[in-house]
Amino acid sequence: MAMGGMSMGGLPPLKDFPKMYWAAVGSAIGVATLVNIFNHALHRQRLSAVQAGQPKPAKPKSLFFLSNATLFAITREASNFSIRIPTKDRIFRLPTVGRTSLVLANMIVLIVLIFYGFDVNDRWSREDIGYRAGFVTISQLPLIFLLAGKNNIVGLLTGTSHERLNWLHRWCARCLLLTATIHMGYFFSDWAPYNYIGTQLKVNTLVWKGLVAWAMLVWIVFSSMTPIRGWCYELFVLQHLVSFAVLIGFVYIHTPAEVHIYIWIPVGLFFFDRVIRALRALYANVSFFHPQQRQNGQMSGFWACKAEFTPLAHDTTRIVIQNPPISWTPGQHVFLSCHSIVPLQSHPFTVASIPQDGKMEFLVKAETGGTRHFFRHAEKTNGLPASSNKSCTKTVAIEGPYGCLRPLRQFDSVVFLAGSTGATFTIPLLRDILQGWKENASTSKQLSSLFRTPVGAVARHVRFVWVVKSRGQLEWFSEQLSAVFSEYQNLQTQLRNIKLEITVYVTCDESFTEEHKTLLSTIAAPNLGTAPNRPQEPQHGAVELRSRLSSLNGKEKAAESKEKITEVTFMDPISPNRTACGADQTCCCKATVSEPASPDIISPCCCCKVDGPSSNPSTRPLSLTSSTPSANQKQKLIVHPQISVMCGRPRPKSIIRKSLEQALGESAVVVCGPQGLVADVKHDVVVLSDERAVHKGTGAQGIFLHTESFAY
Ligand SMILES: Cc1cc2nc3c(=O)[nH]c(=O)nc-3n(C[C@H](O)[C@H](O)[C@H](O)COP(=O)(O)OP(=O)(O)OC[C@H]3O[C@@H](n4cnc5c(N)ncnc54)[C@H](O)[C@@H]3O)c2cc1C
Repeated sequence: MAMGGMSMGGLPPLKDFPKMYWAAVGSAIGVATLVNIFNHALHRQRLSAVQAGQPKPAKPKSLFFLSNATLFAITREASNFSIRIPTKDRIFRLPTVGRTSLVLANMIVLIVLIFYGFDVNDRWSREDIGYRAGFVTISQLPLIFLLAGKNNIVGLLTGTSHERLNWLHRWCARCLLLTATIHMGYFFSDWAPYNYIGTQLKVNTLVWKGLVAWAMLVWIVFSSMTPIRGWCYELFVLQHLVSFAVLIGFVYIHTPAEVHIYIWIPVGLFFFDRVIRALRALYANVSFFHPQQRQNGQMSGFWACKAEFTPLAHDTTRIVIQNPPISWTPGQHVFLSCHSIVPLQSHPFTVASIPQDGKMEFLVKAETGGTRHFFRHAEKTNGLPASSNKSCTKTVAIEGPYGCLRPLRQFDSVVFLAGSTGATFTIPLLRDILQGWKENASTSKQLSSLFRTPVGAVARHVRFVWVVKSRGQLEWFSEQLSAVFSEYQNLQTQLRNIKLEITVYVTCDESFTEEHKTLLSTIAAPNLGTAPNRPQEPQHGAVELRSRLSSLNGKEKAAESKEKITEVTFMDPISPNRTACGADQTCCCKATVSEPASPDIISPCCCCKVDGPSSNPSTRPLSLTSSTPSANQKQKLIVHPQISVMCGRPRPKSIIRKSLEQALGESAVVVCGPQGLVADVKHDVVVLSDERAVHKGTGAQGIFLHTESFAY
């Protein structure tokens, strides 16, 4: 029976309410799209300005750009703000104002549409409200599917990555449950006075079909909650798809044909995403689509990607695909599967290399599922020849790349903060800025074109901070970081205004930081007085940089990584009851340390005391003594001497403040790591933006914040 034309008491007909909802949703997507287009134009304009030699390209000058910058500053400050509730041993953080307002706005629109024009106290309106709520409920289905796909139309328009839209997908589903409950509740409350609910459920097939659909929705919302979703992700995805299929089926038979368009659109969106994913996966994984690489002998056989698995310290696996068939932009991730190790699983990992390396590299921390199997495989096969049956090289499949981020080259100053594997996200971005500096220094200038992104980088000042637990983690990227610093020093001879500062904070390996300090004072003393922003001769050869793992053969590497694993279980024999604060009873330095005045100053660590004074060395707990290198490995620095290595935790706020104080245009702060670090940095940026009254007449420039925490 058609109901859409029903108009209650001079109110618009039912079929108009879904259109009104989509007018509101479409307007929101439209505004976000305009902002995205503006950001793209701004990026091009800034890079063109730097190529034209204009000073301060990231600083808004005209009234239009100035008022935009003020508007953005106010919006960012408000939307990143969240209330923090400190308790005895931790801080609870409520969702940010930005996220909360988006969800509330959706809810308000839905509630207004459902109740508009009705007297909620009038019992004779209950059935009418129930019908209206039904129409409003079904109109939300396309939005939920629009926000779910990996090849996401909303993401494309608004410049947002699929994993960042996932929380909105979940909240829209919760709003759907709310309106579906109102729909059901108003019918039931209309029937209840006559004891008619049971009869309706028995005789009216529409009613029990609707009830099954509602129960399915309750299950979907419940099973998608964070802790439940994480128990067994693969099972979650499978049951999620089946539950949605059942929900859609029951909604279809519960609703009149005139609203089935709101069911066919989600079905179409689902298959659109799947087809695009399948095509992308085929292109990336079948070698016949890459004849050039086959001709060059870089690929053989049917499958395009072979990966090498190497075990590293801290239960981490390095996975490397040589000559990858697809390209990516720094900061993007791909879904990787290796069915011969873990069948039927696919996990997202950030690409830790840049396309210019000619390889796709991932650093994968072993959790309890598929990633643990990757690590075990890497350990078992470490050092075995490639020809062996149990070689560490395996055929893998990749899907992607996914993820998008405003290009960081366009900002005047950039601060990177990463914790442990978070560096897989920040290091490629740092290297991309270096690439931009190389393009600035290059004499061959590219002709500008509408279809070509301008080359070069606006960025002048880059601050890179990485928090690691021990030497083992630092070794993951020690060579890359050292190479970045050497290249930067070479570039300084041509580009006098650029500045790069790198600091590594080591939290659980005090002996290593002490050793590094001693080595610096003995070996690298001549370099240390040189201000890094002054043009210098390249430092090559001044100090031998090394990666212990890379210099060892396969078996030694395995032994080395085993040693690292036993290292972290070391306990203080002097005081066995001392409260250990690191994983596996290790003692970690929780003291926050300030920025060094010069790279050779390493602040002392007070193990296991937050913000406490430095401890007496004689009473200091032993920490990870086995990380001290053997005699023949001494006198070698692990990273470039001008990369500061400090013991303890950083103070993100003072690091960011310093960078902002010298900025000549808009700055970017990028953080990737544990949820606590990400939340703290978000809070610090809001406080600093407020403190400095960004774009409110003080001359303080805008701050763009990007956070990444490797989770949906
Ligand atoms: C965009 C993105 C980029 C990432 N990049 C990296 C990286 O560079 N290095 C790294 O070590 N880790 C990265 N991760 C995290 C990594 O994907 C998970 O740790 C990994 O999937 C866990 O697999 P598991 O089976 O061992 O996990 P389990 O031990 O089964 O679960 C651990 C956690 O991982 C989540 N998880 C499991 N499978 C998936 C999946 N297929 N998709 C999303 N989440 C999943 C679970 O919900 C759970 O919370 C990234 C995650 C995302 C979303």
